[in-house]
Amino acid sequence: MKKLLITTALCCIAACTFATHAQEPVRPRLVVGVMVDQMRWDYLYTYYDKWQEGGIKRLLAEGYSCQNTFIDYVPTYTACGHSCVYTGTTPAFNGIVGNNFLLHGKSITSVNDTTVAGVGTTTNVGQASPRNLLVTTLGDELRLATQFKARVVGVALKDRAAILPAGHAPTGAYWYDSKVPGFITSDYYMKQLPKWVEQFNKKNQKVMKDYDLWNNRNGVTMTFEMAKAAIDGEQLGQDDVTDLLAISISTTDYVGHTWSTRSLQLDSIYEQLDIDLAHFFHALDAKVGKGNYLLFLTADHGATHNYQFMSGHSLPSDPWSTSPAKNAVNDSILAQFGVKDVVKNTIGYSWYLNNEALEASGADRETIKRTIARIVERDDRIAWVIDMEHPYERAIPRELLDRVVRGYYAKRSGELYIIPVTGNYAGTRAGKGSTHGTWNQSDSHIPLIFYGWHVPQGERVEPNGMIDIAPTVAAMLHISAPDGAIGKPIVFK
Ligand SMILES: [Zn+2]
Repeated sequence: MKKLLITTALCCIAACTFATHAQEPVRPRLVVGVMVDQMRWDYLYTYYDKWQEGGIKRLLAEGYSCQNTFIDYVPTYTACGHSCVYTGTTPAFNGIVGNNFLLHGKSITSVNDTTVAGVGTTTNVGQASPRNLLVTTLGDELRLATQFKARVVGVALKDRAAILPAGHAPTGAYWYDSKVPGFITSDYYMKQLPKWVEQFNKKNQKVMKDYDLWNNRNGVTMTFEMAKAAIDGEQLGQDDVTDLLAISISTTDYVGHTWSTRSLQLDSIYEQLDIDLAHFFHALDAKVGKGNYLLFLTADHGATHNYQFMSGHSLPSDPWSTSPAKNAVNDSILAQFGVKDVVKNTIGYSWYLNNEALEASGADRETIKRTIARIVERDDRIAWVIDMEHPYERAIPRELLDRVVRGYYAKRSGELYIIPVTGNYAGTRAGKGSTHGTWNQSDSHIPLIFYGWHVPQGERVEPNGMIDIAPTVAAMLHISAPDGAIGKPIVFK
């Protein structure tokens, strides 16, 4: 009996985190999502000595860290990660199968939209919208739940990192065009930039002109400044209707790609991130009030250490170049079966077949796919070439196949998917930066810390997925999870 009572009491503590008042839904004034592009989970500790008080340390000391949060699908790319966090589902359902993919046979970026025009720019950087995203986001559901009174804003240097998290029906999404230079949007959202965006761009012209924000610590600071301007400009968190602000820091990804995971350049970017986070928390405390906002920090993907660093320490790594492999396949299939350019496109690890040429040749499709796999797998750096039309037919661990299938949408993905041996990646030995895209721990283990409104201090080691983030926030807010969500709410213990 005593044991039962204790169990009941414990369950109540967990459940109460979600429902403090059983009848009336209580919500925070503001939900803030902070995504740090290419932040590995272990950076929380790699850089621990560099963190000052008030930034990451405040999150770790006062927040709730889900220490084993993994990306539930491959490929682990930016557009997929930003979509998954805010839709609670994977590319198989949300349709964002990569930063680039083929749509009706044409190569596009995830947010490319030639039917819209830029606002605040005359370049094609403004031709972007969330139309390729197939499902609703957390922000869309918040808008639905509040009769569209909630204000939802997305801010990032990268277009996809602002657009996909903000969803289909936000108040606004703003990304950076270095040619302007300034934050811009598209006429999908509005006809004219709001005054506060115009003023922000004007005020920061000098910094924007003097620095390459993509590769400089000023890029981190400018993104947080823009987020603060959005809070003021859109009056986020100023009334009883919950608002949502989705921020993404893109500079961390650019510097990682250029200089790699263990570089002084990346160190300095993370130092800046920590300083700017501390300032941002101060601003939130002042503008919205401590305890009135619910914040989470996470990443769209991690990063694989560079070959030169790894091999220098006798650790397994060996990059593999896509084009020579594709050329060898196309030459061999032409010679054996008379099919020209059988691999039409390669985007990341996804290979698209030339279905027209295949059909016209009358060659046996299954034989061709098996032959391609055999040719590519001759290379010791490649583990498997998965036939996405029959993924479960080979002796490949389910753990991997499930993730590949969750990342695959037949109308947009290639028919073949390449899996390098763990530690290897698409690239060259001479390449200096770090990269991502694989299923491995390096790319799929991301930080996830909740902080603020109704979040207890603590951590959990039980694994959970990136798909669980949106359902967790939705449950706390007592709103519907995004329509395609497959994740489960995380219970704080
Ligand atoms: Zn990224």
